[in-house]
Formats: sequence, C-alpha cells, structure tokens
Amino acid sequence: MNSSRIESLKGDITKLHVDAIVNAANTSLLGGGGVDGAIHRAGGQAILEECIRIRNRQGGCAVGEAVITTAGNMPARFVIHTVGPVWSKSNTGADALLSNAYRNSLQLATENKVKTIAFPNISTGIYSFPKDKAAEIAIRTVKDFLLSDKKIEKVIFVCFDEENYGIYQKLLSEDAYLSSVK
Ligand code: ADP
Repeated sequence: MNSSRIESLKGDITKLHVDAIVNAANTSLLGGGGVDGAIHRAGGQAILEECIRIRNRQGGCAVGEAVITTAGNMPARFVIHTVGPVWSKSNTGADALLSNAYRNSLQLATENKVKTIAFPNISTGIYSFPKDKAAEIAIRTVKDFLLSDKKIEKVIFVCFDEENYGIYQKLLSEDAYLSSVK
C-alpha cells in the first residue's frame, strides 16, 4: 500500500506534517465542535481571522464548497475548509454534496500547489453520515480525481475512531480501489 497515492491512518489530523489538512467546517466558517474545534484550537487565532475575512467577502462557505487559509501554529501549511452535508434519511443530494466536498478540496489544493493532503472523515461525526457509505464516496471521489491529476502525490484519510479506521483499511486493501492510482 505504500506505493499508492492514497493511504489511511488512525490519529489526530492537527499533528500531521503535510502541505494541507482539510477541515470539516460548517457554513459559518466560525468554528465548531469535532475536528473543526480541534483545528482552530491547534492552529490558533490566525485561522479564525482569515475565516472571518473570507466570510466578510463571500458570506461563508456553501455545502460542498471549499476555502483555504493558513494552518497557523500547526505543522501543515494550509487548512482547506470544506462543508459536508448533514445526513438525512431522505438523503436528497447528500451523496453528491459529500463527493463535491472532497473534489472541491482537491481542486483548491492543486491550485495552491499542494502535493500532500490529509482528510478527516467528513460528515461522519456531528453530521451523522453513515460511515461506510461516506468512506466509499470519499475513496471513489479521490480516486477519480487522482486519475486525471498527476500533481498531488499523497492523499491521507485520517481516521479518528476505530470504526472508521477499520472501514478504510478494508476498502483500501481491496485492489479495485487502488490499482489504477498507483
Ligand atoms: P461533521 O460535522 O462533518 O460530521 P465532525 O468534526 O463532527 O464533523 O466529525 C468528522 C470526523 O472527524 C469524525 O469522524 C470525527 O471522529 C473526526 N475527528 C474529530 N476530531 C478529529 C481530529 N482531531 N483529527 C481527525 N479527525 C477528527
């Protein structure tokens, strides 16, 4: 699996030495719980200040879209803030919006010359998206993006809980997901 451009690990995304970490933000961009809270705490005031500037300019961040800021005091260079969908039983458009969140984050990454990027398991915390379904969407979207992009060298799925880690390990060990992006 080391030769692949996609990998997963279990841990705290705020500690990673990558070009960009992705934040599962909310549309206000003003911070929140879960990974959003952890990123703002670890990165410090500079992130919130930039988020407020973006908010003043464009009124926050829509679901499925992404914006970029400094990573402040964290080892990464950038935070890409994206907003995943809140899960609902009727699921109108939620799958597509989750896919958009991953794709638009990767697009913004390439525009900023990011070569290594780490994602949390977007929408699987407070937003209650089913973890297995979210992982399938995340991996499929990243794989599709990498097929036509040659600049990003590494995408890391950072799992905070054991259940997500198990799901990613299983899906990523299945050849079909990776054979075409090695
Ligand atoms: P959402 O509102 O998109 O569901 P959450 O932050 O509630 O966002 O959860 C998204 C995922 O981030 C969850 O799987 C949660 O366990 C995980 N998470 C929480 N803290 C961290 C962290 N420090 N590093 C990586 N992942 C984290």
